[in-house]
Amino acid sequence: MELHLPTLVVTAVGLNVLLGILMLVIYQVRRTQKSFLTWACACFVFALAAVAASLRVYIDQPWLTIFTADVLIVLSPLLALHGLRQYQQQAPVSLKLVALVISYTALPLVLLYHAPIHAQTFTSVVCASVYLFAAVYILTIRQAPALTKAVLFLLFLVHGGLMLGMAGMLFQNLSAAKIAMIEPILNLMLMTHLYLTTGTAMLFPVFAFSLSEQRLLELANFDDLTKMYNRRAFWERSSLLLAKNRLLRKPFAVLMIDVDYFKAINDRYGHAAGDACLKRIADIIREHLREQDVAARVGGEEFAVAMPNADHNQAELLGMQICQQVEQEKFEVAGQKIKLTVSIGIIYSSNSRRELAELLNAADTALYDAKASGRNRLVFG
Ligand code: GH3
Ligand code: MG
Ligand code: MG
Repeated sequence: MELHLPTLVVTAVGLNVLLGILMLVIYQVRRTQKSFLTWACACFVFALAAVAASLRVYIDQPWLTIFTADVLIVLSPLLALHGLRQYQQQAPVSLKLVALVISYTALPLVLLYHAPIHAQTFTSVVCASVYLFAAVYILTIRQAPALTKAVLFLLFLVHGGLMLGMAGMLFQNLSAAKIAMIEPILNLMLMTHLYLTTGTAMLFPVFAFSLSEQRLLELANFDDLTKMYNRRAFWERSSLLLAKNRLLRKPFAVLMIDVDYFKAINDRYGHAAGDACLKRIADIIREHLREQDVAARVGGEEFAVAMPNADHNQAELLGMQICQQVEQEKFEVAGQKIKLTVSIGIIYSSNSRRELAELLNAADTALYDAKASGRNRLVFG
């Protein structure tokens, strides 16, 4: 297949300009997301780099076609990576890293600007390092959905490998005569590089939106302190479980758990110590759940557990285990040992005939009885 490089370059430039404009449009809508502005710049810089480099054939101005082009070629993935960091951290990220890499790249390029093949070899090595770093960085973004993360990781990895391969080939053929012989392979690599860059840039908005979606879901469903479900998510999930149990005529149990005299703990040891205790209590509850149980933090120092298809004994066992472990636990906060207890109200419905609201109210009443009869105990409603 004959490669027509100028057409390819024009296509890549056009696509990157369009992508840059798209990023700018998204930035207009989402002003708080600076990463779209950075990604727009990365696209425009890449387009400029491609134009400057392709002028090599037509004009003899190494400062533009080699030095400037190579600096821009490195700058583009650096900006893309910077945008990823901005999106991941959701806070201002300093441009120090970009400035540092660009300065250390520009210095050798000044010396190499009369030796285009050497300059291109060096640029390929720097780009390969940036892509490989980006591949590793993508893996550290915890919340990102697995598929987009895997695709971006692969793109960066392949791109890094390609650039290393290109650097290796250039390094073995550092004279113009030898380069002419491997030109078809180099052109193929260059074409792949153009496609990979454009493909990666296209994925950025998809990646950003899926990450936002994931974050919104977490905000909507999880309690920030304990990472347990919140009241809303608890309601949603346990309603579904209850409906399923009702169809199958299976039993269902609900536990309401409230920390005893918690206000006094806050008053005595401070709010931060109180928070640490709540986190630990959530962990204790989690440790004793069966796989199918749903637990949530439904209020300040109040937790709830829905137990589908649990018999009376299983509900009692879970309540006892939580009660006993909290009582035995030494909550160590800032060098102080805090003792705590919980009271638990349990409601058990043998064939799930009752509504969720009714069950929760009944469990609440049982909890109230547990408090009234001395706390640190469980009471069945
Ligand atoms: P009782 O045994 O009757 O439940 O007494 P209590 O003090 O636990 O109950 P009360 O409802 O009077 O107080 C609950 C306290 O829980 C009030 C508030 O200071 C504390 N609290 C609620 N949410 C949080 C939180 O997120 N962090 C911390 N540290 N404290 C919280
Ligand atoms: Mg309480
Ligand atoms: Mg309470």
